[in-house]
Amino acid sequence: MPNVTRGVQRAGEVAEENRGSGFYRVKTLVMKDGEGPWYLRFITPLDAMPSADMHMFCDTKPRPDEYKGENWPKAMFAVCQNDRMFIILDEAGNPTGTYEDGYGKCYVHDRDRGKVRDGKFKRDKSQPDWQTFALAVVREPVLDTVTKKTRGYRDATDDFKLPDGTIKQVPRFVVVSQKHRNFWSGVEAALFDGGELGAYDVRVTRQENDYKFAVSAPDATLYPGSPAWARYTEALELIGFDLDAEVIKWGSHDWYARWFDPSRTPEGGYGGDDDSSESSADADGMTATAARPDPAAVDEFANRLQAARSGASTS
Ligand SMILES: [Zn+2]
Repeated sequence: MPNVTRGVQRAGEVAEENRGSGFYRVKTLVMKDGEGPWYLRFITPLDAMPSADMHMFCDTKPRPDEYKGENWPKAMFAVCQNDRMFIILDEAGNPTGTYEDGYGKCYVHDRDRGKVRDGKFKRDKSQPDWQTFALAVVREPVLDTVTKKTRGYRDATDDFKLPDGTIKQVPRFVVVSQKHRNFWSGVEAALFDGGELGAYDVRVTRQENDYKFAVSAPDATLYPGSPAWARYTEALELIGFDLDAEVIKWGSHDWYARWFDPSRTPEGGYGGDDDSSESSADADGMTATAARPDPAAVDEFANRLQAARSGASTS
């Protein structure tokens, strides 16, 4: 096993610990033109956001007979299996040029090459998009009761069911999956004073494909490492979510077996609908994800996020 970053190793452990517990699911934030604004507190620091080549709108295979649910999606996203994260690293952490077993011959690439993608750009359907991911908490403006002006922001919350059935409120975490070019570069630019992203509430607005960003004053009490921030780290441990593990999962053989390759069946079967049954890739990107990571798959690919990161481009 080549080099493994501590964070990614932890991703594997978390996936293992949470296998079988399906009480809560972190969804991917879909920001549609004409909706919003969205208020976000980013948890992942700018320099630690994982990136990957993504197939955003892949046709799924026909609904398998073994699938127990009602809502088999027409399209699903995936991390391209030709992504550099699947190239084996040498002991110094440099890519060797050799892919891990079964990688480097992406099924979606081979299947969709030469087909034209829907939409105005007429791009080849097999061509992936370089996406960068961050975890964020959804925030809500708190209005002054008299002036109706925004006094500040608070966490949106969700119910989280503990194994004993009791309900605990947790911050509403979302995955933000966007391109550097039209999104993350704007977030960076909004931090004109070079501050730490996690110390700000960020308001995102969208008009057609243009995103605009405004940041709050730096928060004097809620910032990474502060006592108030502990509610985020504690909640993430409670729900067992790890962004690195999630990204690895989207490129795993299990993910491809589940959604795309009709000749393969995912380990552990298909199951049925769950609370993410709206899973699909729509015209605006990704909605909720289904299926928990297969711990073996997570382990097996754990080193590659580091490769993807260290060689991250900003296209
Ligand atoms: Zn591919």
